[in-house]
Amino acid sequence: MISKNVCVIGCGYVGLVTGACLAEIGHRVICVDNDPQKIAMLREGRLPIYEPGLDLLVERNVKDGRLSFASDIATGMQDVEVVFIAVGTPPRDDGSADLSFVEMVAREIAQNLKTYTVIAEKSTVPVETGEQVERAINRYNRSMAPFDVVSNPEFLREGTAVHDFLHPDRIVVGVKSARAEQVMRDLYAPIEARILVTDLRSAELIKHAANSFLATKISFINAVSQICDRVGADITLVAEGMGLDPRIGRSFLQAGIGFGGFCLPKDVEAFLYISRKVGYEFDLLRVVKEINEAQRACFLKKIEEALWILKDKTIAVLGIAFKPNTDDIRFAPAIDVIRHLQKQGARIRAYDPVAMSRAQGCLEGPEGSICFCPDPYEAAEGADCLALLTEWPQFRELDFGRIKKSMTHPIIVDGRNMLDPKAMLELDFEYHSMGR
Ligand code: NAD
Repeated sequence: MISKNVCVIGCGYVGLVTGACLAEIGHRVICVDNDPQKIAMLREGRLPIYEPGLDLLVERNVKDGRLSFASDIATGMQDVEVVFIAVGTPPRDDGSADLSFVEMVAREIAQNLKTYTVIAEKSTVPVETGEQVERAINRYNRSMAPFDVVSNPEFLREGTAVHDFLHPDRIVVGVKSARAEQVMRDLYAPIEARILVTDLRSAELIKHAANSFLATKISFINAVSQICDRVGADITLVAEGMGLDPRIGRSFLQAGIGFGGFCLPKDVEAFLYISRKVGYEFDLLRVVKEINEAQRACFLKKIEEALWILKDKTIAVLGIAFKPNTDDIRFAPAIDVIRHLQKQGARIRAYDPVAMSRAQGCLEGPEGSICFCPDPYEAAEGADCLALLTEWPQFRELDFGRIKKSMTHPIIVDGRNMLDPKAMLELDFEYHSMGR
């Protein structure tokens, strides 16, 4: 095992996991973020994000001296051989990726280059960004130090990020030189996984294509759920029957309120934008996006059909994070749904196991229109309807008999198809779900 000095720029969901996991497999890592609050928290031994298992990993590697933190790139880049760019690439209004953070970081990296360094794109970026980063670095590389830009897209999933990083299905490395390829092979040597080495552009495209394909699977099953609703079939059984075919596979065939989060929606948008830019209208992806939006509208319609008028109705919302086991609420369907219900004059009583403080920071409304509750039972108290928006496993174990007694009207609209319809009907709930 060849231990390397590594700098990871960006201490978010991807950067912090990357830094901690690379330290865990024996490298010396310094994680940099320009948000001084994040760095202060990390230095005090607190994590700025919730990710299962990450706290122990950070604690152990800081204690063993393999992981440290800095608020500036100059400090982070002392004697490093590999620098990861793991900053955000948020969507702009036209759907394209905002690469200004990447460009800013590339400039600073260039100003701090001293010896041969591999600069690895971890952020999800449009095809040809690698070449742009290379150009930007050449422009500001006053010391003329040699470097290589590589594309090393990340496939981790929030909620299981540590496991995904240490046990990946594959590691994709897009390179231009044998030297950079060797550095990346040495870096990942302790991880047992197939390393797929490609050219820079193909590696960048793999990430966008993979996420867009996953989004397509979700929209496909959601479209089928619409047919199920109309003919009285059960989408769970249909998905099971489809997924048992290994050519299709069972994952990403859960019908519901559609995909959200920081990756799929923006990556689909960005891929659509890139395709258009290079002269190809990716109509399939456009429809994937439309089906996703329609699915959310369909969920809201189910609530409206159950309650008729939403004004002054109380709706309990269980789950705000875009998926279970994360506190990430960026582009979470629940945020959209809550805002829509508030606009119609409904009062919200919300609960999420870990995303509450983030949600409090972004959801507001007229006085009394949203109340954040300490547990699901309080959220359900006095509610005219309960909306299930994130499939936290603990919601399955709730005492729904108790919940029913505390609600004003026992109506459940299950946007994640997580509850057993028969059990809910036996408890005398009016129960609605998606496509069954
Ligand atoms: P994030 O917002 O959680 O983290 C980005 C971090 O970069 C922030 O802490 C921010 O303060 C920091 N940053 C921004 N500009 C900086 C600068 N100039 N110097 C130092 N730090 C700076 O984002 P994320 O979820 O970690 O995503 C990062 C990238 O990885 C995105 O391109 C995303 O698409 C991609 N990605 C995300 C996931 C995921 O599940 N979140 C998975 C795979 C790929």
